[in-house]
Amino acid sequence: MSIKGTSILRERNQKRVLEYLRKNKMSSRLEISKALKVSKNTVSLIIDHFIKQGIVAERGSKETKGAGRPSVALSIVPRSCHSVGIYTRSEKIEIIVTDYCFNIIEHSTITITQEDRLLEELIHCCERIVDSYPNVIGIGIGVPGLVNPKTGFVYRATNLNWTNIPLKERIQRKVNANISVFNSVKVAALQAIEDSEEDLHSIFYIRISEGIGGAFIINNSIHLGASWTAGEIGHISVEENGPKCKCGQSGCLERLINVTAFKEAIKDNGFGYYNKMNIRELINDNSSEFIMQELKNCGSYLGKAVSQVIHLLNPQVIIIDSPYNGASIFKDNTVKVIEQKSLNLPFQQTRIEFVDNVYSPAKGAAISVIINFETGES
Ligand SMILES: [Zn+2]
Repeated sequence: MSIKGTSILRERNQKRVLEYLRKNKMSSRLEISKALKVSKNTVSLIIDHFIKQGIVAERGSKETKGAGRPSVALSIVPRSCHSVGIYTRSEKIEIIVTDYCFNIIEHSTITITQEDRLLEELIHCCERIVDSYPNVIGIGIGVPGLVNPKTGFVYRATNLNWTNIPLKERIQRKVNANISVFNSVKVAALQAIEDSEEDLHSIFYIRISEGIGGAFIINNSIHLGASWTAGEIGHISVEENGPKCKCGQSGCLERLINVTAFKEAIKDNGFGYYNKMNIRELINDNSSEFIMQELKNCGSYLGKAVSQVIHLLNPQVIIIDSPYNGASIFKDNTVKVIEQKSLNLPFQQTRIEFVDNVYSPAKGAAISVIINFETGES
């Protein structure tokens, strides 16, 4: 093997050791060697290197089943490295700094008063972070729009008024850090990995807010598709003669049940007062028959789209992150329609989860930076 090949392999093994230690919290050289099928000598060299750098620490002795004398317990020193996730919106920038084990160290927001200053503010924010956290592995930026994560190029982000912006290149020119750019819904989905106790093979995540987006996670990584739009459930048509969507099609899920459509529907029926309210508060506050019927309709449309996801992708879990989740009528009707429209076997085998807390794209971006670092994609 060439010298370059050897060093790539060493780096790959180093990252695998870090990934293993992050997931397993406490381990030993022998356990790591067995789990990763790497020689104990190689693991020991890697661990010694990390201990010297302050990334891994020895934590006393650890009993190993049937293995004679106890081995030395090892764990990551979480704060030895930081990861940064940023969620960019037109009116504010949200920043989350985590340690290597995804614990939040900083959560802050910057209000944007002038839309044309957004990019400038974003660069300032990255500069400030690099100054405050010298051990940053990378900065991940979640953008609500069409993004090529390989190049960090933003094709279109309607809400930010951005078209064809080489975002990664622009920031990287001014900021001395490894910058990545992601679609905000796709990275938000990665929180499902963190939330889950088990190792899930495949997850489909659906987020309903001003837009409706989705992401398919398979073996812990986001399936992007050939032009980075895999999972765009919002533009599945669920009503043949439905209203026209901004994409040009009729009856798209997004056009029918996003937050704007819901507010419009209740406004047109004399609920104008609620238009200013947060939908979650509204659901807690008002259980009128009309609102319940609207929520039921939202569930029907969503159920139709989800049944197509089940047939096409057959994920193990479907996670629904929506402002309507507080209403049982919405959840019950979604599941009922999924059952009606899906083949029995995959329906029975698919777990459908309605999450209580909105997944944070900023946190997801920070998680993505660490996962990409470990898989060598950063
Ligand atoms: Zn559409």
